[in-house]
Formats: sequence, C-alpha cells, structure tokens
Amino acid sequence: MTTETMLPANLKTLISEEQLQQRIQELADEINRTYRDTEALYLVCILKGGFMFCSDLAKKLTIPCQVEFIRLSSYGNQQKSSGVVKPVDLTLPNLNGKDVLLIEDIIDTGLTLDFFMEYLASLHTPKSIRLAVLLDKKEARQRHVETHYVGFEVGNQYVVGYGLDDQGLYRNLPYIAYFDLDEAAR
Ligand code: 5GP
Repeated sequence: MTTETMLPANLKTLISEEQLQQRIQELADEINRTYRDTEALYLVCILKGGFMFCSDLAKKLTIPCQVEFIRLSSYGNQQKSSGVVKPVDLTLPNLNGKDVLLIEDIIDTGLTLDFFMEYLASLHTPKSIRLAVLLDKKEARQRHVETHYVGFEVGNQYVVGYGLDDQGLYRNLPYIAYFDLDEAAR
C-alpha cells in the first residue's frame, strides 16, 4: 500500500511538488542576487511549519549562509489562529550588523510575524531584515507585515503539507494540500 492510499480521500493537491520546487528556485535566484555581497545571510527558520521550505530554499542558495531556528506557536491544535502567539524557543545568536532572512511557512493573520519582528527589533539591530513566506493568505490579514519573498498567494482555506500540519499530521507531504469539504459531506 502506498502512502497516497492511506491519506483521506478528500485531501486534494493545491500546489504540486514540482510547482513548489520551481517557485522556490525562482525565490532562491532572487535572494542569491540580492545578497551576492553578503558576508553571511542568517536564515531564521520559524518552526515547526517552516522546516521544509527553509531546507529546500537553503539548498538552492549559493551565498554564504547560517541557519538558525526559533519556535513559535499560534494555532495550538485548532484550524483557526488563537490570536495569541506563544514563544516556545526564541534562542538566537547576536544578529547585530547581520543580514537576516526570516523563513515562514505561511502568513495568515500576520500576528505571528508581527510579534516576532517586534521581538527581534527589541533585542537586535540587524544590518537588514527581510521576510520569506511560502504561502500568503492575504484575505485573513489583521496586521500589516511587509513580505519580501512570497511563494504563492492562497485563499482563506486551511492548507496542510510541506511543513504545515493538521493536529500534527501531514507535515511530511512534499506538496500543499487542502481538505475538500464538499466531498467530505457527500
Ligand atoms: P498568523 O499568525 O499569520 O495568523 O499564522 C501564522 C501561523 O499559523 C503559521 O506559521 C502556521 O503555523 C499557522 N497557519 C496559518 N494558516 C494555516 C493553514 O492554513 N494551515 C496550517 N497548517 N497552519 C496555518
């Protein structure tokens, strides 16, 4: 039995593996150009959801990089943002004078990134700070957050795969998927 057959029948592909990899290569090309003179670009991956995007993006970067991880939680086990961002682990090296690129799986309300940007600015003075998000759910935005590198815009629906979970599951899928609610109701 393949993994595919063990997934719920109403789980549908939204963005294929090929589309993801192609777009991430385009983003990497742009980042390589922007930071061609950097001493080192600090990739700050926001866990858990950002791990696949960060990993694939990092592999396509040709500039010197350091990779750091922080962990935030805002959804708990719900499919809706709790509105409260819980810092789980914010350990970072000193980023003063460094080029920093935050890597996030998806921006939804914007609360998570708004919180983290403010936190970073209160403790560090980076030379530059930019934001790379794989998915942008513009419709749900509650806070303005400037995004510099965006993979895809998606509608206001709950998506899983490629780092994104539903109650801990589906992070390992190499593509982005959604639950077809009409099919579930049939
Ligand atoms: P925000 O604070 O912008 O509302 O949400 C950011 C975080 O919420 C993301 O890092 C992600 O963990 C989670 N999130 C937002 N939308 C989705 C979604 O459609 N699917 C999943 N699995 N997580 C989401």
